[in-house]
Amino acid sequence: MQTVSEHDVIVVGAGPGGATAATALAQQGRDVLLIDRHDFPRDKICGDAISQGCIRIMNELGMASRIEAAVGRGEFHSLHGMRLSGPNGDVLQAAFKRGVNGEESFVAPRIYFDALLQQHALESGAAFLQAEVKEPLLDGNGRVTGVLARENGEVKAYRSSVVIGADGVTSTIMRALRPPEGQHVDKHRAVALRAYIKGIELYPHEVEFFLYDDILPGYAWVFPTGENEANIGLGMRLDRFRDLKKNLKKMLEEFLAMPAIRERTTKGVDLRDVAIWQLSFGSQKKLQHAYDGALLVGDAAGFINPLTGGGIENALISGKLAAETIDQALRTGDISREGLKIYEQQCDEEMWDGMRKSFLYQRILLNYPGFVDFLIRYLGQHGGVAKTFLSKL
Ligand SMILES: Cc1cc2nc3c(=O)[nH]c(=O)nc-3n(C[C@H](O)[C@H](O)[C@H](O)COP(=O)(O)OP(=O)(O)OC[C@H]3O[C@@H](n4cnc5c(N)ncnc54)[C@H](O)[C@@H]3O)c2cc1C
Repeated sequence: MQTVSEHDVIVVGAGPGGATAATALAQQGRDVLLIDRHDFPRDKICGDAISQGCIRIMNELGMASRIEAAVGRGEFHSLHGMRLSGPNGDVLQAAFKRGVNGEESFVAPRIYFDALLQQHALESGAAFLQAEVKEPLLDGNGRVTGVLARENGEVKAYRSSVVIGADGVTSTIMRALRPPEGQHVDKHRAVALRAYIKGIELYPHEVEFFLYDDILPGYAWVFPTGENEANIGLGMRLDRFRDLKKNLKKMLEEFLAMPAIRERTTKGVDLRDVAIWQLSFGSQKKLQHAYDGALLVGDAAGFINPLTGGGIENALISGKLAAETIDQALRTGDISREGLKIYEQQCDEEMWDGMRKSFLYQRILLNYPGFVDFLIRYLGQHGGVAKTFLSKL
């Protein structure tokens, strides 16, 4: 097949992980092709909660003035704290402390958030192609040498020294490279529903998490996006969801009918963009993220926090680490798995401790649901569960 173009790096997926990697590599002067099946702006099913850690990395990439402008346009909604409600109605309220450089947390609908990151990648020097990647291209030794992508109905070959798979939880690159037995199992996966709601009385700058018997170790959320408007949703671990034969749309109706919510929606609500998507947690051990000529980042690798469902910050962290690893590997000329696998070690150092603890708390919530109210009432914001929600959203 004829090769259309050749690059230092092809990044598949222009979500937060891919856009961060593309930006960092382009800023190092690398020739980067960023491919996404969608043009931007585009929606992504998410709770839209953006941690301070995300803002810190975006500032490092030179995005401070873009963020400020997005706040001014009302696209980023500032957060001052959180409320965690337990099954008996006990509420833990905690304030978010600003980061060392004054970073805030936000709720930013992904239609705005992702477009900002993708635009920054392009203005940093990455080229963008709207195309659907079908599979990685492999040489005779199994090394990744580019991708096959469908553009305007035609499948074409694009070549690069390294490919980054940043194509989300259903990653084509991940499925082609990881053997089936090395992929996520159901107890490290979740399924979640997201909608936007109008007409609900809100705590205007606080994210709300609701932990109740029917949903544990998952939760429902109400995250304000503006005046009387919020991102609302709920998620459950996949094995439990399958065992209990649950239906997420029905669970949303039940959540809206719960007294704590019903009394705040007495004038009726308007729900839009109800949609369901999957999550892969970073708590599953020994998954491979580095291959000959390729790395996986963000949801493609499976870096979502198993307690909070937050994955954007880890997508940014892994995107940045992947860019640093690849830049170094291109300098030494070793783009084999051996040359790239330091990335796995660095991801572990940055994320594993948090994943391990979060999975432990998740198991406590699953096995001892009666303990949730105790945690909220007596341990308050100094308990590990609360701290994890506070820092990892
Ligand atoms: C319901 C729900 C709620 C969530 N809430 C939060 C939250 O509030 N805060 C938080 O931090 N995290 C949250 N998460 C997790 C978060 O959405 C992800 O961790 C994050 O989007 C990961 O970013 P990414 O760049 O790795 O992947 P994605 O954001 O999924 O981006 C992948 C990109 O790849 C593109 N792509 C996919 N396949 C192809 C292909 N074959 N060819 C070309 N392009 C392709 C897609 O179009 C997409 O643009 C939530 C997840 C869900 C499902």
